[in-house]
Amino acid sequence: MQGIAAVYTGANKPLEIRRYPILEPDIDEARLKLGISGICGTDLHILKGRLGIPGPLILGHEFIGSIDALNKENAIDGLGQSIALGDNVIACVAIPCGKCFSCQRGETASCLNFGVTYFKNPDIAPHFFGGYSDTLFSPLSNIVKIPIDINIEAVAAFPCAGPTIIRACAYAGDLEKDEIVVVQGTGAVGLFAIAWAKAAGCEVIAIGSGSSPKRMQLAESFGAETIIDYKTTTPEERIEIVKKKANEMNRGDGADVVIEASGAPSAVPEGINLLRTRGRYLIPGQYSSSGTVNISPEIITFRALQLIGSGQFTLADIKTYLDFLSTHPELQEKFASVITHRYTIDQAEMAMNAVDTGEVGKAVFINK
Ligand SMILES: [Zn+2]
Ligand SMILES: [Zn+2]
Repeated sequence: MQGIAAVYTGANKPLEIRRYPILEPDIDEARLKLGISGICGTDLHILKGRLGIPGPLILGHEFIGSIDALNKENAIDGLGQSIALGDNVIACVAIPCGKCFSCQRGETASCLNFGVTYFKNPDIAPHFFGGYSDTLFSPLSNIVKIPIDINIEAVAAFPCAGPTIIRACAYAGDLEKDEIVVVQGTGAVGLFAIAWAKAAGCEVIAIGSGSSPKRMQLAESFGAETIIDYKTTTPEERIEIVKKKANEMNRGDGADVVIEASGAPSAVPEGINLLRTRGRYLIPGQYSSSGTVNISPEIITFRALQLIGSGQFTLADIKTYLDFLSTHPELQEKFASVITHRYTIDQAEMAMNAVDTGEVGKAVFINK
């Protein structure tokens, strides 16, 4: 039996379709069969050489599949939940070291020596280490069981963006009911942030681009009360809209929380200006080096602002994401609707090109 994978061999080269034998898992691994595996913006950054990562390796860190083989009795996932053949699981790729200053403090999402499960040469057995494949070997300590009441298409909408926002909010002291939350950007991170803030009882203002009407629609259906098109408004007008809302709600001189989810450096100076005094700015969206910006730091001082970065998440944050879907079943269909394009592994090149054009809502790999 052979499995198939799309292999990244280096920046700006087409993905290579390769086949390898499907082997048995090691004692501390599970062999997973592809259910649905997301293509993330980070993959495109790698492919375009923006992160300087050498090949060969199999890209993809959003693999959701069913357990196809185990080599151990009474196996448990990374959170100690019992798992069995056929269970749906999500495979997390991050390996915090467990020993560094952050890990020792329990802040494993900010490990100083992060490893990942998939930066391995696929020519080496058992070959399938990354998400762009129909088979995956994952350490048991990296998998999280998906409850049976959750549609895996809903999970696949934000497997990375969801826990990323959950962690950023945890670092920022969680969102409170009635807070005004401005979300900059309506990509995956932004859309999940809207749903999360809405569920927390916040008043949500989303800033997106009118040239992506589908995303603006999603922002609305996910619960944003106010949606601003940044292409047809000026930064001053946007500040005005936010201040007016704060005034109406009697909540100070701006937004309680701004979440940067656009990835555009220019969003940051604006985000600072949207905050109320003592407001919290969460910055989990700047995922590649895209340039520098000018800010006036005295605003941070005089308005006592809090700027909070966050780039990773923990297995517990994945569990929180899954529990969120369980406790909000009405969101499952909405989340699943984010997926607009489905490809088989042998169509990987086509998939990457489609994602690169930006027309795609969310693209995923599925089994034939
Ligand atoms: Zn991702
Ligand atoms: Zn560590």
